[in-house]
Parts: sequence; structure tokens; C-alpha cells
Amino acid sequence: MNTYPKPPFPPQAQPVPGSQAQMRPQPDCGEQSYVGSGRLANKVALITGADSGIGRAVAIAFAREGADVAIAYLNEDEDARETARWVEQAGRQCLLLPGDLAQKAVCDSLVERTVAQFGRIDVLVNNAAYQMTHDEIEDISDSEWCKTFDINITAIFRLCKAALAHMAAGSSIINTSSINSDMPRPTLLAYATTKGAIANFSAGLAQLLGKRGIRVNSVAPGPIWTPLIVSTMPEDHVSHFGEQTPLGRPGQPVEVAPIYVLLASDEASYLSGCRYGVTGGKPIL
Ligand code: NAD
Ligand code: MG
Repeated sequence: MNTYPKPPFPPQAQPVPGSQAQMRPQPDCGEQSYVGSGRLANKVALITGADSGIGRAVAIAFAREGADVAIAYLNEDEDARETARWVEQAGRQCLLLPGDLAQKAVCDSLVERTVAQFGRIDVLVNNAAYQMTHDEIEDISDSEWCKTFDINITAIFRLCKAALAHMAAGSSIINTSSINSDMPRPTLLAYATTKGAIANFSAGLAQLLGKRGIRVNSVAPGPIWTPLIVSTMPEDHVSHFGEQTPLGRPGQPVEVAPIYVLLASDEASYLSGCRYGVTGGKPIL
């Protein structure tokens, strides 16, 4: 059995978007442990937010399963190069795509550059997100509300629309939602609202795309030890992160990656329109 770290964790705070390299303990993205078995052989995947955290674990797992990956991220070049190192060590190609997903032109160019490099897209993983803790609704500025929606849900609409022009039957779209999608943490009001929207959007889009043979699902993680947490949550919350789950600890990114591998793979040919929880024992609706 794996013995992943349990709280309490050392107090730590970072500016957004956070650096995985500076976290203590280091998140486990499967660097030393994930073993592939050709389940995504020769597929092409575009993964947003894949410099760190869940996205990095998905990129490493996809590469070890035989996929080439394009990695989109905001500006964390050091973390992104580390992800690329692991992808290339798996014998696969990695394309690094920094840029702000709040801008439509960036969304379009991510797809264009991925297709220019790899010729098509088989798997689109919409995983990037922004959140910030606020105790009162009055503390959320109008611009922050709109920014959260632009990055977390409008970018997903834009990326899906642009990528679908290059996705054939058998392709898969996987959107990262959250346990907050139906159990909203009130101090993450804007973020939790977008996570509900992502689950709903995914279920609707799956029904639109069924006739094209393209599957769409969402994943709802519980507390996972990533830079998002240490860069947006109060230090006392970070120290005890994940303690309330039945397993008594946060999940590690590597523990989330296998569901993405399954949903991306041809084995999942009848899985579409659903939301899959990875919550350490906490039920989702
Ligand atoms: P993370 O910080 O490692 O990944 C989020 C990434 O989003 C960042 O690396 C950053 O590059 C990217 N990003 C942020 N703003 C961006 C922008 N404007 N343009 C482009 N990219 C941008 O953290 P993570 O926890 O692995 O997050 C991955 C996903 O998992 C997110 O959708 C998050 O909501 C979701 N999630 C996380 C948890 C958790 O407890 N960590 C729980 C539920 C859901
Ligand atoms: Mg990051």
C-alpha cells in the first residue's frame, strides 16, 4: 500500500499561480511510480494546466501510455520544463504552450499549434483553473468574477469548439470539474460556480457529440495536493488540507491520473456524459 503524506503540512504560501518546485512536501505526479501499458498508443493529447499538479500527472501518465502531448500553462516555465522532461523520458514528444486562457486568441492558437505539430487532436483535457479565497461576496470584484469564468469555463467552450475541427470519431474530451460542483465551498464562490458549470457543460456536450462518436466526461477531484492550493488558500487551511476526508489526507496528483487515462482510452468507448469523483471517500451526488 502507498503511504502518501498526511497533514499537518509545513505552513506555506505562494503567489498565484504557484510553483510546484517550491512545495513541501513535493506533490507526487507519478514521476517514479506510474507504469504505462500502451493504452493510448500514438494518440495526440492537448492538456491545459499541465505544467504542474493534476495536469502534470496526466501528461506523464499519457506519455507512458504512448501518447504525444501538448502542454498548455500560464507562465510557469520551470514547472513546464520538468513535465516535458518526463514526457520525453517516456520516449514521446512534448510541445510547450504558455499563454493566458482568458484570451480567445490564445485558446485558438493552442489548438492551431498542437495541430501544426502533431496533425490532429485525439484527446482534449481541459484542466487549467483559477480560484481565490474570499470570506464575503462583497470581497469578490466584478473583474475577478469575470476572470474566473473566462479561465475556468469560457476557455473550455472555446477550446472544445476550436479542437473539434481536428477531432475524429473515437476522440475524447475530459474536463476537470471538482467536488465543489455540487458541494460548493462558500469561500470559493466564483470558482465553485464555474465547476458546476463545467460538469453541466460536459454532460450537455456529450449528448451533442454522440452522433460524431466523440465522448465527453468530467472528473470531480476532492482535495489534491497541488500549487493551486498553496497559492490560493489560507496557510492554516493548507496545513490541514485533506484532513476531513475519510482517508484523512489529500490525494496526490498521481492518484487522479488513472481516471483520465481510462476516459481517454478506447476501453472507455461507452463512457460519456458522466462526472467521475476522485475524493478520498467523500460521496458526490
Ligand atoms: P495546478 O496549479 O497545478 O494547475 C492549475 C493550472 O492552471 C496551473 O498550473 C496554471 O498554469 C493553469 N492556469 C491558471 N490560470 C491560467 C490562465 N489564465 N491561463 C492558462 N493557464 C492557467 O493545480 P491543480 O490542483 O492540479 O489544478 C488542476 C485542476 O484540478 C483545476 O481545474 C482545478 O480546479 C482542479 N481541482 C483541483 C483540486 C485540488 O484540490 N487541487 C480539487 C478539485 C479540482
Ligand atoms: Mg502550475
